[in-house]
Amino acid sequence: MNSNRQDVGAVIEQLRSQDVDVVRVSYSDMIGIDRGRDVLLDELPGALGHGLPFSRCIYHTTPMGDCIPIQGGMEDGLPDIHVRPDLSTLAPLPWEPGAVSCLGDTFLADGTLAPESPRTVVSRVAEHLAQLNLQAIIGPELEYFLCESDGAGGYRRYGEGPGNVYVVGRKGDPNGVLLKTLRHLREAGLRVTAANHEFCAGQFEVNLNHSELVDAADRAFRMKSAVQEIARHEGLLATFMAKPFNDEGGSGFHLHLSLENESGDNVFGDADGEHGLSETGRHAVAGVLRHAPALAALANPTINSYKRFGPDTLAPWLIDWGLDNRSAMVRIPPDRGPGTRMEVRLGDATANPYLIIAGTAAAAYLGVRDKAELTAPVEGYGYNPEAAPMLPPTLPAALDALEADTALTEVLGRYFVGSFLAYKRNEVERFQRFVTDWEFREYAYHL
Ligand code: GLU
Ligand code: MG
Repeated sequence: MNSNRQDVGAVIEQLRSQDVDVVRVSYSDMIGIDRGRDVLLDELPGALGHGLPFSRCIYHTTPMGDCIPIQGGMEDGLPDIHVRPDLSTLAPLPWEPGAVSCLGDTFLADGTLAPESPRTVVSRVAEHLAQLNLQAIIGPELEYFLCESDGAGGYRRYGEGPGNVYVVGRKGDPNGVLLKTLRHLREAGLRVTAANHEFCAGQFEVNLNHSELVDAADRAFRMKSAVQEIARHEGLLATFMAKPFNDEGGSGFHLHLSLENESGDNVFGDADGEHGLSETGRHAVAGVLRHAPALAALANPTINSYKRFGPDTLAPWLIDWGLDNRSAMVRIPPDRGPGTRMEVRLGDATANPYLIIAGTAAAAYLGVRDKAELTAPVEGYGYNPEAAPMLPPTLPAALDALEADTALTEVLGRYFVGSFLAYKRNEVERFQRFVTDWEFREYAYHL
């Protein structure tokens, strides 16, 4: 306890010497929104001691700010949770001088971790893997669109021009926002490797280096939040929405996943194994395929997500895998040896980083634990519906698949899955009652 206090004192002194006076403590809600509080540096010991109180219904709050009835929320009288900063995650916030970022863990009144907290869920999956003496190594890749005001209360794509596919410089990015973002992300300690203009007009991608799954989830969560915040500083909107436009493709959240043993050696590859993969690696891929319908609920968590899927999209449509094949849901990149890994292309950028990473690693864990058998890889064109089962076509179908997947539910935690399903089914219900622009355009004039 004393040494902790001394550590906190030393941390505070160090931050003060760097002219820092605020610690921005944040955590992910159920859908990946960055929630938290700006804490004056002098108040940090209190935040570390009793934690920062929030109403538990923060996990059940919609993007419109409404609190929906879920276990532990309204029915329990809107009790508190306490968020305690995890000082090991302290990091600079270069676009906000004088402030630093710190992630928090969420505790219930009895001192246990909140089971619906996405950071709790990903740690739980790490513990399961550790029981097999394994650790998942994750490299996240995220795509997003930048939008600017259209002057009429709406948004249009930023920097639009024909064919700026992987074009560098100011052609597709007239204000140099991407380079500024890349440098800020590096200064923020996010271990970013590269950034580029993506396939679609106004679409960009940032790649993060790989690390152990909890750290990778923390960094991907902070990266999404940072990209949005930096865009706001530039007067732009960065959206990770899966398929924001009818005339352009969607934004993916690809995960590179390998497995390491306790000594830090890659056990995913094996030069003598089939396809250069070890038995463990093949089981892990098979686990992701086996649990894909349920995993979709976490990797593709919005109603809009399912509009990104389809043939010829570079996004998946079927539950398949291939060797260096971008039309498959799981691609095994050509690297072998220590770089052997799978690239899971299922997720879209709206996914909560903690949950897509937790779900994917949990599916890989189950594949290894249950010795799931890998089928033959898809060859050539991967969008042949005769050749492989189809992903769930809608969010409700994916939610039903998650509910039915008791093995995945046990690994992620029953309480969490119950809360997630209730939250998302409420979202589906609200959408089903809402009259859309499409309906008015299609029906109003002739019918
Ligand atoms: N935008 C595509 C997707 O939604 C991926 C493009 C790429 O291969 O990077 O997944
Ligand atoms: Mg990409």
